[in-house]
Amino acid sequence: MFKTLLKSAINNSLWIKNHSKTIINPLLSIRTLTFSAEHDELRKTCNHVNPFVDEWEAREYNGQGLDYSFSVAFFEELANINCGGIPTALMVHTDMALPALVNYGSDELKREFLAPSLTGDYVACVGVSEPSGGSDVAALRSNARRDGDDLIINGSKMWITNGAQADWMCMLVNTSHGPVHKNKSLVCVPLKSPGVTVAKKINKIGLRCSDTAEIYFDNVRVPYRNIIGEEGLGFMYQMLQFQDERICASISTTSGMFRAIQETIDYCRQRMTFDQPLINNQYIHFRLAELQSEVECLKSLNYRAVDEMMNGENVTYLASIAKLKAGRLSREVIDSCLQYYGGMGFTEDLLIGRAYRDNRAMSIAGGTDEIMLGIICNLMGILPKKNEKQMKNCKKMMNK
Ligand SMILES: Cc1cc2nc3c(=O)[nH]c(=O)nc-3n(C[C@H](O)[C@H](O)[C@H](O)COP(=O)(O)OP(=O)(O)OC[C@H]3O[C@@H](n4cnc5c(N)ncnc54)[C@H](O)[C@@H]3O)c2cc1C
Repeated sequence: MFKTLLKSAINNSLWIKNHSKTIINPLLSIRTLTFSAEHDELRKTCNHVNPFVDEWEAREYNGQGLDYSFSVAFFEELANINCGGIPTALMVHTDMALPALVNYGSDELKREFLAPSLTGDYVACVGVSEPSGGSDVAALRSNARRDGDDLIINGSKMWITNGAQADWMCMLVNTSHGPVHKNKSLVCVPLKSPGVTVAKKINKIGLRCSDTAEIYFDNVRVPYRNIIGEEGLGFMYQMLQFQDERICASISTTSGMFRAIQETIDYCRQRMTFDQPLINNQYIHFRLAELQSEVECLKSLNYRAVDEMMNGENVTYLASIAKLKAGRLSREVIDSCLQYYGGMGFTEDLLIGRAYRDNRAMSIAGGTDEIMLGIICNLMGILPKKNEKQMKNCKKMMNK
C-alpha cells in the first residue's frame, strides 16, 4: 500500500515539474500559480495516507507494523526448535512481558523499555508469581511505596523465566492498601538497579535451557513514571496480558503436538516388530489418528481466538479454554507418542523424552489447569461466590 501511494505521489509531482514552469501571468510579467483538476487529484493522494498512519507510527518503537497473524506463524515455527526452553524464553519476552506496555504504556516508557526490547537489545521478563503463591494473583505481597517522584519496591518474585539475564521486569506490585483488585500496578523495573538480587536459578526437571529465577527486591528505587498506564489498574492489565500469554503458549504447543505425532509416525514406519512396521498395528495408527483429530480441533479453536483478538474482542473465555486444552492434550499426546518409541522413548537420546519433560510445565506456568477451570466456570456462571465469613476466618488464621 505504501509503495502504491509513493508511486502515485512521485508520478504526480513529476507532472508538476514538467508543467509548472510554463505557468506565467503575461500581464504582470511575474510568475504565479494556477491549480488544475490534476492538482486536486494530487491533494487527494495525501488523504489516502491517514488510515495507515497509526499502523506506521507504531514502528516508531522499532516494531515491524505487522499484524498478529505473523506472530501466529512465529509461534508455530518455534515448535520446530528441538527443545521447549528457547521458545519459552522467546515468548516470555515477546508476548508475556510486553503486551501491557504496548497497550497502556506512556510514550516515554515505550521509548525506554519497549524500543530496545523490540530490537533485542533488552531482555524482558514478567514478575507475577511469588514464593507465597502464584495462583492467587490478588494475594501477592510485593509492594511499592511512593517517595516523592520515585517508588520504593520491596518483596520477592518466584519462577521468573529469563529472570537471571533480563534487563527489566514487567512487575506486578501492590501500590496501595485498597481492595486487592484495585491496589496493584504494573511497573517497569530495571533489574540492574541497586537492591535487586537474583537469589537463585531454579533447578527445573524440564525447560532446562531457559533460566527461571527467584528474585529479591530490597528498597529498589525506580521513577514513579515507570508505572504502566494508571496506578491501581495493574491487576486488570495483567489479566489482559495473560490472554496474550495463554494464546501464544497454546498455539506453539499445538504446533509441537503435530510435530510429535509426525515424528512418531516416521519412527513407527521404520521400526519392525513381529515382521511388520509398528505403524501397521491398528491400535497404533487409530490412536495416532485420534490424537491428530483432537489437535486439529484445538488448532481451530486457537485460530478462532486469534480472529476475535484481531477484531479487538475480549478473548478471556477462548484463551482460557485453549490454555487448559493445550496443557491437557499435549500431556496425553506426548505420553502416547513416547509409549510407541518403547525403551528409546525413555532415553535422553531422542527428542520425545525431552518433549515429555519440557511439556509438563504447560499445565502449570501461565496459570494452572485448575485456575483455567475456575475462570471458565466463572464465565459460565457456575462458580460459587466466595463465602465472606469463611474468607474472614481464613485471613485471621493467616495473620496469626
Ligand atoms: C517453568 C515455569 C515458568 C514460569 N514462569 C513464570 C514467569 O515468567 N513469571 C511468573 O510470574 N510466574 C511464572 N511461573 C509461575 C507459574 O505461573 C505458577 O507456578 C503458577 O501460577 C502456580 O502457582 P504456584 O506454583 O505458586 O502454585 P500454587 O498457587 O501454590 O498452587 C498449587 C496447586 O494448587 C492448585 N490450586 C490453587 N488454587 C486452587 C483452587 N482454588 N482450586 C483448585 N486448585 C487450586 C493449583 O492449580 C496448583 O495445582 C512459572 C512456572 C513454571 C513452572
